[in-house]
Amino acid sequence: MRVIDKIRSGRPCLSFEVFPPKTSDKFDSVKEATEQIAALKPDFMSVTYGAGGGTSEFTLNIAQNIEKKFGVPALAHLTCVSSTKEQVKAQIEKLKADGIENILALRGDIPQDFDRSKMEFHHASELIECIRQYGDFCIGGACYPEGHTECETLAKDIEHLKLKEEAGCSFFTTQMFFDNNILYSFLYKIRDAGITVPIVAGIMPVTNANQIKRITNLSGTFVPARFRAIVERFGNDPKAMKQAGIAYATEQVIDLLANGVNAVHIYSMNKPDVAAKIKENLCDILAQA
Ligand code: FAD
Repeated sequence: MRVIDKIRSGRPCLSFEVFPPKTSDKFDSVKEATEQIAALKPDFMSVTYGAGGGTSEFTLNIAQNIEKKFGVPALAHLTCVSSTKEQVKAQIEKLKADGIENILALRGDIPQDFDRSKMEFHHASELIECIRQYGDFCIGGACYPEGHTECETLAKDIEHLKLKEEAGCSFFTTQMFFDNNILYSFLYKIRDAGITVPIVAGIMPVTNANQIKRITNLSGTFVPARFRAIVERFGNDPKAMKQAGIAYATEQVIDLLANGVNAVHIYSMNKPDVAAKIKENLCDILAQA
């Protein structure tokens, strides 16, 4: 099933994200975690792709397993920046052969020591065009409510986002944010810029204090005072921090759904207990017609 049909269904739509292992010895335990998350029956699940494609087989195997065993539509991520056109084409052909209908098309981060003169893809929009050339997929892309770190202004980043829509993206999933007002302001700006496809709001349940330090260092995501206070007060108590992080994420989701953002993506990070708790917290809300 195409995830765009779930997103456009008019009902609240919840997805969970999982990531494949970096090495084959971890495959079974990661697969088990993804199965426990799939058993929660989210509307769809997204399966990330290791930059450079080194673990592409794992992405494919996990995506296929979730669909076949649990009937949960899989959104297989695909990056392009450090791959050749031939490698990308081969991965698209494999996804097609395995019955995967949904791809999240990403540029990927450019490795530090990478020889840029060898790049065959420069932007995600080129990958989107390539995917359309080789198959009839439902294609999504990434967007950044606070602007992508490499782009000088949010306005310029939104211009580039429009190119992804024009290339054939039918929805965008956002980078995580911890203040819903940032998303509401972003939605206003992108609609003003003529972007019309649905936005899936990405929510990260922060369950330990180190996680938030890593996130803010890497992406510069704004952490509101209300959430900083939670980390300062409960950060040293793992159980309390986990409970508070899940409650904060749940509250973000409720506010989004109440304000007309119908599709929410949880960065569940291979943690079935966190995914289960969020689903439970939202059960009556998600059951709404
Ligand atoms: P692009 O859309 O190509 O944008 C990258 C930069 O180039 C931006 O600054 C943009 O403004 C600029 N740009 C775009 N088009 C043009 C143009 N035509 N001219 C000039 N500049 C342009 N990474 C992984 O490795 N694996 C994953 O599975 C993965 N999943 C992700 C899922 C989500 C929801 C998100 C938000 C990110 C994910 N990432 C993943 C990270 C992502 O690969 C990085 O953020 C990467 O740096 C940018 O990818 P993109 O697809 O947004 O790139």
